[in-house]
Amino acid sequence: KAIQLNQEKVNIVDFIESTIESHQLKHPDFHFTYEVSGFKNFTTDPVLLGSLFDNLAENAYKYSSPDQKYLHVSARHIKGKIVFRFTDKGIGIPAPEINNIFKKFYRVQNQYNQNGSVGLGLAFCKELITLMKGEISVKSKVNKGTEFKIILPYNE
Ligand code: ATP
Ligand code: MG
Repeated sequence: KAIQLNQEKVNIVDFIESTIESHQLKHPDFHFTYEVSGFKNFTTDPVLLGSLFDNLAENAYKYSSPDQKYLHVSARHIKGKIVFRFTDKGIGIPAPEINNIFKKFYRVQNQYNQNGSVGLGLAFCKELITLMKGEISVKSKVNKGTEFKIILPYNE
């Protein structure tokens, strides 16, 4: 049976602030900034949205050097869509790897990737976004950082 999407009204500032708070409890050295423009509330599945946010934030934390644990989140209402951007200052992803990172169990070889994780986070995010009728894309520069962009339909 297909998963049923919950549709709830979410106040985006409250949502971002509470998510940030939970990550900072786990990782006191994790720094966040955020901006919201063009809307206050939107209707979505808050559990799925939280899961997306958590996976992207965990990656931003994990794949950044100890003195650059930083994530900027922006949420904008643009032409009937909500555009989220998650921008970090981490180690980046080499260009030839970019098309692989959404595959199940795929992990890039790097110094932060020794153990622990399985390489399912982004594959899971991609599935969630498909369910939510959205899109995800990524831009990255090695040693500069990575930006994930998520576009979701805007339902008031
Ligand atoms: P899991 O999420 O299952 O714990 P994971 O983090 O390794 O494991 P994904 O989240 O699917 O798996 O990410 C796949 C790979 O993409 C990672 O192993 C990492 O090499 C790379 N990656 C993901 N996010 C970033 C990021 N923000 N900066 C640099 N590399 C990243
Ligand atoms: Mg991950």
